[in-house]
Amino acid sequence: MAKRIFVGIDLGGTSIKTGICDEEGNLLKVGEGATETELGTERVLDNIVACARKIVDESEFSWDQVAGVGAGIPGFMDAEAGIVHFAPNLPLTNVPVRKILEDKLGKRVAIANDANVAALGESWSGAGKGVPIVVTYTLGTGVGGGIVVNGSILQGGTGMAGEFGHMTVVPDLEAIQCNCGKMGCLETVSSATGISRMAVDAVKRGDNTMLADLPQITAKDVFDAARAGDETAHRIIQRAAHYLGKSMAMVAIVVNPNRFIIGGGVSKAGDTLLNPVREAFRQFALPRAQENVEIVAAKLGNNAGVIGAAGLCLR
Ligand code: ZN
Repeated sequence: MAKRIFVGIDLGGTSIKTGICDEEGNLLKVGEGATETELGTERVLDNIVACARKIVDESEFSWDQVAGVGAGIPGFMDAEAGIVHFAPNLPLTNVPVRKILEDKLGKRVAIANDANVAALGESWSGAGKGVPIVVTYTLGTGVGGGIVVNGSILQGGTGMAGEFGHMTVVPDLEAIQCNCGKMGCLETVSSATGISRMAVDAVKRGDNTMLADLPQITAKDVFDAARAGDETAHRIIQRAAHYLGKSMAMVAIVVNPNRFIIGGGVSKAGDTLLNPVREAFRQFALPRAQENVEIVAAKLGNNAGVIGAAGLCLR
């Protein structure tokens, strides 16, 4: 029998990334196309279909070998029902995406939130391979997350499980408002945006730091300065790590995972970030909940999305 393959779609506001995986989660081919968000709902869905067909056409595989197509979508959705309710950067408001794609592709389709899909990818064939309960944090513009239990994403009752970025961890007196409207969310301090904001605040306050010479301060600049011995930058990283570790200690008591995986752009800082996070986690977590729990960097980089999306159809 010909090998079964799975197509993964990582839908973004500007590009559609695609990948072909085998049943073991090996990424065999990658592709990319334009989302063309500005051209509306139908065009975006047609582009997804075209990208899925194109990557298979250009591969050594036939369309008959496709056992399923999965899509990771940045937004709020009922993944079970296959309906996207709202996606901030896409024209997909209350759209039954799964049904439409199934009709157009003639294949089984599954959809899930992009952060959950990235978590599934890492659990299937990345830093969480073979680990029963994996919790992934994705640190980028915001803080996303996902919980994968024995190979399945824990969606939660309304798809909100794993939204770690909106855990209230910063004490009231130090809290600022999050994009979600609440005060003191993890995302306000531990995302790339949060880290750069704290640096800008420090410069405005007149703190002595090499960051003051930069026209714009990115999270990467703050990590670089911390590595170069800048005290202010070091303090900012410690603060971001402190709240990240604190939130993980809370998650550990609820989910009790075997492994935490940290991915997203900010995780490129490696041990400069991970070591203080591990320290904070040990400080806050209940001893029994931190035994044999590892905190590691993600392995798949930008491919976690397409791999996890492909993996959606295996279950
Ligand atoms: Zn929030």
